Amino acid sequence: MATKGFNAYKMAQEQFDRIAEKLELEEATRDLLRTPMREHHFSIPVKMDDGKVKVFRGFRVQHNDARGPCKGGIRFHPQETADTVKALSMWMTWKCAVANIPLGGGKGGVICDPHHLSQREQEALCRGWIRQVAKDIGHVQDVPAPDVMTNAQHMLWMLDEFENIKGGKYPGVITGKPVGMGGSLGRTEATGYGCVFVLREALNDLGMNPEETTASVQGFGNVAQYAIELYTQLGGKVVCVSCWDQKASKAIAFKKSDGVSMTELRSITDRFGEIDQKKAKEMGYEMIPGEDWIKQDVDILIPAALENSITGETVSQIKPSVKIIVEGANGPTTPEADRELEKKGIMVIPDFLANAGGVTCSYFEQVQCNMNYFWTKEEVLGKLDDKMTAAFYDVLDLSKKRKVSMRDAAYMISISRVAEACRLRGWV
Ligand code: NAD
Repeated sequence: MATKGFNAYKMAQEQFDRIAEKLELEEATRDLLRTPMREHHFSIPVKMDDGKVKVFRGFRVQHNDARGPCKGGIRFHPQETADTVKALSMWMTWKCAVANIPLGGGKGGVICDPHHLSQREQEALCRGWIRQVAKDIGHVQDVPAPDVMTNAQHMLWMLDEFENIKGGKYPGVITGKPVGMGGSLGRTEATGYGCVFVLREALNDLGMNPEETTASVQGFGNVAQYAIELYTQLGGKVVCVSCWDQKASKAIAFKKSDGVSMTELRSITDRFGEIDQKKAKEMGYEMIPGEDWIKQDVDILIPAALENSITGETVSQIKPSVKIIVEGANGPTTPEADRELEKKGIMVIPDFLANAGGVTCSYFEQVQCNMNYFWTKEEVLGKLDDKMTAAFYDVLDLSKKRKVSMRDAAYMISISRVAEACRLRGWV
């Protein structure tokens, strides 16, 4: 999506250039990795409910597939741009590489607003999108998934259209399908739990006992709720959570010094992750301004809502007690704030490592579909724990060895892995 004056693709390329310099990558590899390998831009004509045909603009960008088929979601958004899709496809390449799953990076999108489309029109759009890319995607080429404003139903329509075209069953071509229709158990928990698998190891490295720690969380949606669930199971105490108040159009935070209860809060939260303030008050929660989630006297901060929340302005509000920040959300910390956090000596577990549990579980979904045999939830989450823990130590070890931040170490690992795959294939 486009945000005024901000170009995600430019930012992704700058991030890449900085690390390429540190790694002393040669020119051809830089040229190859700083732009997507393939871009598909296409028109999707859809017969609308009023009988008229409307033409939508769609994209699928395949940034790099040296390590395996491309992987990445499809966004439906009115402000979608080709540049945003390109940036996201690049970030997917780095995320899959740091998680060490055999996949490359891709991303797709359609400029549209599903709020203004009927179910029939959405189905036609999904089927139209697939018809344009059917020859360029597949379980051995590129595997799409849901993203902003797309869901399991959209994925199922897309799968059905793909199978109609190909004349066979190809459940591994797309992930994020409903459980029972090729979806994986554990996908709902995967991103939040993944955050806590790496947090557990970070605490271990810093010699901290989870049972003696406290945390404050921004957001109360999918990622936040499952992160809180598992962190609480480890004995940690979440003393503050925040969410978006749709009516008042501002954020609000909920405090309980002896620890929030997931059972209580879930029972009063809607499907958009908004907590009912009246009921929370009756349950003894103190309500404070949403921005204050960051000012809490805790050991751990978990931004799990949206980008741009730890900034040059807000970073100074972080209390000296904070030792670890786990970026559940994508892009919550600005580069300026990042420099401050480094000075303060706070360990930041960067987004594309911390929230890689989602794509790792999508990879598991694809694997299960390809063999047409589905694992139990325990098996999925156990494998996820192994992957996330291994990825965390790869990054931690390099960060200590090269005396660089966890973010730089994660970038160095992912970019080197992809560069090496390109080199071994003889591309550069
Ligand atoms: P979600 O829509 O389920 O929840 C978002 C939550 O953030 C809601 O509780 C909402 O009220 C809250 N929120 C919105 N604006 C806020 C604000 N200004 N202050 C405080 N709270 C606010 O979303 P999600 O799936 O949990 O995703 C959260 C973040 O994690 C996003 O950045 C997303 O891109 C990233 N992410 C999600 C996944 C996944 O598998 N769900 C995977 C990787 C990354």
